[in-house]
Amino acid sequence: MDSALLYEDDDGLKDKINRIIEQETEKDEYFEEAFFMIDMDDVKGKLKQWRKYLPRVKPHYAVKCNNDPQILSLLADLGVYFDCASRNEMASILGLGVEPCNIVYSHSVKCRRDIRYAAAAGVDLMAFDSEHELIKIKSIHPHARLLLRIKPSDKYDVQYRLSIQYGCEQHHIRPLLAAAKGMGLNVVGISFHVGSGVVDGRVFIDAIERADRAFAIASELDISLSVLDIGGGFFGKTRAPVEFKEVAGLISIALEDHFPAKRGVRIIAEPGRYFVASCATLVLTVIGKKVIQDGVAKEFLYFLNDTVFGTFNAVFSKCTAANQPSLLKAPRSDVTFKSSVWGQTCAGHDILFKECHLPELEIGDWLFVENVGAYPMSINKGGSFNGMPQPTPMYVCSKQIWKSHYCKT
Ligand SMILES: *Cc1c(COP(=O)(O)O)cnc(C)c1O
Repeated sequence: MDSALLYEDDDGLKDKINRIIEQETEKDEYFEEAFFMIDMDDVKGKLKQWRKYLPRVKPHYAVKCNNDPQILSLLADLGVYFDCASRNEMASILGLGVEPCNIVYSHSVKCRRDIRYAAAAGVDLMAFDSEHELIKIKSIHPHARLLLRIKPSDKYDVQYRLSIQYGCEQHHIRPLLAAAKGMGLNVVGISFHVGSGVVDGRVFIDAIERADRAFAIASELDISLSVLDIGGGFFGKTRAPVEFKEVAGLISIALEDHFPAKRGVRIIAEPGRYFVASCATLVLTVIGKKVIQDGVAKEFLYFLNDTVFGTFNAVFSKCTAANQPSLLKAPRSDVTFKSSVWGQTCAGHDILFKECHLPELEIGDWLFVENVGAYPMSINKGGSFNGMPQPTPMYVCSKQIWKSHYCKT
């Protein structure tokens, strides 16, 4: 990284944002661009917490969650391994100098060209959950080390289920393991993904029990397994509905019960949102404003410089009163008005926050939305509909991180 804004230890979120705005306004007085403020220390702090509460589990960061090159390179530098789902993701991780053996190719339904890429690049740990996948792997990458992805229970509360189309049913475990063995393929372990945004950590206990049963089935078939991949799903945002250490505590107990260290099984995970959700804050400006006056009642429409085609994709579709942008500066008055907040494109449905109550805002006022580092930021990689610019990443970090990671002379 060539440049990052270095902050002081006691700077809060707003101070960091203000420092960036000051710096950019010096260059251009009409600096009114949306940007992502990315805090590298936040990412590093997540790793520290992981190592404290899940020391036995080796994290493989799920690249799809945010493939910002600076975030990837910091994680690689810190010794985190990676979970890739496509050849583009594998190429970007290998390009950082990460060893192919430190990548898990976790997608259980891969296209043949990507399997060929993995074989040539030496990425050989990969997931499957059907016989058709085994046939592809057999013909293209026959020496791959395979993880059978099993379905978790759907009884527990998670934000987004990933197991409708992925993961095999319990009664398919035996036939799939037998088929792999019959084809001379090398199954080395079991994986699962309990869903993204785990609200009830007991889903992990249940899934680890299921994995243990799958290990037993494998052993009956004379297949010796040595890897357990517990997937991702951990919240990473601030003010999450459940704390990481609570979920990690349940996982540790379940691992102790079913996979104690003496069993010699290597435990890995594929956390995505956990590492990045809270590192990025989207900072926006009011670029337009309209007033609707109905008798004495006033209602405001504001236009901001992002869009539902960008950061405000599906993740934000529930625009509730609790989900509204924060103001960078204290409002000019405490009076609030019914307001709606719109995106910058000409599309009729480009609404960001439907019914909020905001103080009156002016053109050029700054707003921010926290916790956009996971999917909102990475899904915002599509084109720029209407030719609108996308928010630029702006990196901030402490002096310690800057010294230890970026100026190594
Ligand atoms: C999306 C995904 C992840 C990351 O999930 P998070 O909920 O962001 O932790 C990990 N593994 C697989 C297979 C995924 O599809």
